Amino acid sequence: MYDVIIIGGGAAGLFAAANLKTEHAILLDHSHEVGIKLLITGSGQCNLTNTLPVEAFLSHFGNKQQRNFLLPALQNLTTKILYEWFEQRGFPLIVRADGKVFPKSLDAHDVRDFLVSHSMAHIRTNMQITAITALHPGFRITTTDAAYDTRNLIIATGGMSYPRTGSDGSGYDLAKTLGHSIVPPKPALVALSIEEYPFKHLAGNSVRDAWVSLYHNEEKAAYEQRKGDVLFTHDGLSGPAILSCSRFVRKQDVIRLSLIGGANHHEAEEILLRALSAPKKLITTALKETGIISSLAQTLVDMAGIERDTTTATLDKTKRKALANLVSALPLRVSGSKGFQSAMVTSGGVALSEVNRKSMESNLNEGLFFCGEMLDYDGESGGYNLQAAFSTAYLAVQHIR
Ligand SMILES: Cc1cc2nc3c(=O)[nH]c(=O)nc-3n(C[C@H](O)[C@H](O)[C@H](O)COP(=O)(O)OP(=O)(O)OC[C@H]3O[C@@H](n4cnc5c(N)ncnc54)[C@H](O)[C@@H]3O)c2cc1C
Repeated sequence: MYDVIIIGGGAAGLFAAANLKTEHAILLDHSHEVGIKLLITGSGQCNLTNTLPVEAFLSHFGNKQQRNFLLPALQNLTTKILYEWFEQRGFPLIVRADGKVFPKSLDAHDVRDFLVSHSMAHIRTNMQITAITALHPGFRITTTDAAYDTRNLIIATGGMSYPRTGSDGSGYDLAKTLGHSIVPPKPALVALSIEEYPFKHLAGNSVRDAWVSLYHNEEKAAYEQRKGDVLFTHDGLSGPAILSCSRFVRKQDVIRLSLIGGANHHEAEEILLRALSAPKKLITTALKETGIISSLAQTLVDMAGIERDTTTATLDKTKRKALANLVSALPLRVSGSKGFQSAMVTSGGVALSEVNRKSMESNLNEGLFFCGEMLDYDGESGGYNLQAAFSTAYLAVQHIR
């Protein structure tokens, strides 16, 4: 009988393996290699945490229940302790001006390989798990090749976003066979598609520090606001501000965008009206002077029904107002999200009420632990999800018996 079996060799499973106190352990992964998702984090550079203290860090998670659940894990392995964990083992990190932490090499492969090289568990890939049975005490893990008994079982199979990385949602079924409930998984941190999208030709361009406001259908007041970069895609919007809004967005919601970087809706309107009060100047020129890129300026002029040779001197009041509305609060209706194929994280997963937040142990099965994204939490982009995976894994390992 093994002391520990870990199922899933992603960020959480590998970090758990690297912190085990026993070598009588195996890590089973169904993919052909471990840590595939880790390799694509932070655009291949791996933004593994940030420098925020616990409270501020947790404010970047979905809701109060998630924050409350993650608190003991984050207090136990803070962003600072994680930083030291790597540095003290001879793995140098860098902190960017915005507080995001990366490996000094800026190569996610190094993080994955470092964790693998520190694994106390023997790693076995291409392992298809067909059954888990509770032995009271312990568990039997049956794979297509063999059966393994263990006193402690850590399930760290991730969510179901980017399924090609191995996190395909099959881990939820393993948890279900042990009696756990799964909060229905949804894509989070995901690009949005927009109805009658007018900016296809701008794909790849972004507005720096745009204000984004979300409205349910015809409601007057915004229910969520974010400031950050917004990226135009070929059929909708992406970029940090949109990704962090995406977990709240429902189909048919309206997004209002301020297109003048750094300015909120009101400030953007004022900046534009000031630019339009200049004596005789083409409207597109006035728009460009506010920082709006040329191709976007051209499109906005067309959308406001303004002839291209119109100048600030000949622009009538109604069209001025129409243009100001577009620039300060451009309305775009959400037709859907890009789904699990391109969502950075999954919201939903193993119900938090069934897991002890002080140990990550199941409330239903002694010796069973969960960690990482397969739990029902999801954080914003910026190192929050990897830190949460590491912290929950670390806490689980400290409580195995
Ligand atoms: C494009 C992209 C970029 C990202 N960038 C960042 C970033 O820079 N910073 C950040 O903090 N977060 C980032 N994230 C999120 C972060 O990668 C995840 O939250 C994190 O990897 C979750 O770790 P995990 O170990 O819980 O799951 P995963 O890393 O998904 O690992 C799960 C593992 O379990 C295995 N597995 C699944 N099911 C089974 C099964 N049934 N049997 C056996 N094995 C199984 C899989 O093969 C996989 O190896 C990014 C995500 C994506 C998609």
